[in-house]
Amino acid sequence: MDEFKIDIKKVVFHKEGDTGDFIEYDVEKCNGCGMCVKVCSAGLWSVKDGKARLAPRYGELCLECAACWEICVPEAIDFSYPAAGSGVTIKYG
Ligand code: SF4
Ligand code: SF4
Repeated sequence: MDEFKIDIKKVVFHKEGDTGDFIEYDVEKCNGCGMCVKVCSAGLWSVKDGKARLAPRYGELCLECAACWEICVPEAIDFSYPAAGSGVTIKYG
């Protein structure tokens, strides 16, 4: 799968307010496959030493697409939504 990244700031803006932790990650379930890295167009996942890592400030950049949650076969990633009134707004569409 080719890597695809977009300039996030051109298409979304993040509203003020604390999003809370809306993505949870279980390191014990992760098999290091790297699929979360490939599908995240915001570039928020990486794999190091065989385990995925989520950018610490993901709440400021996440597009809330839930692709990482969907692609993770061993269900190491759990996705909900940011706290009400926070998160992204799409500029176009
Ligand atoms: S998709 Fe899931 S199992 Fe694969 S590296 Fe990411 S968190 Fe780990
Ligand atoms: S929800 Fe989408 S943008 Fe946010 S971390 Fe997962 S794949 Fe990346």
